[in-house]
Amino acid sequence: MAYRITDECISCGCCAAECPANAISEGDTSYVIDPDLCLECGACAGVCPNDAIVEE
Ligand code: SF4
Ligand code: SF4
Repeated sequence: MAYRITDECISCGCCAAECPANAISEGDTSYVIDPDLCLECGACAGVCPNDAIVEE
């Protein structure tokens, strides 16, 4: 169960700064999580100002 970033992302970058696995990068229209790197720690979801990160 990896985490996923939804269309609610406003590309603030807060989540990428918190990720211990460097699994989050800036994509074309939003930030994206690499499911192969995600440790499912939930840190990103906790700092997102727009509740754009959901657990799959
Ligand atoms: Fe990174 Fe943790 Fe978010 Fe996975 S759940 S993308 S490891 S901060
Ligand atoms: Fe997008 Fe939320 Fe990450 Fe900011 S913290 S880049 S709004 S997913």
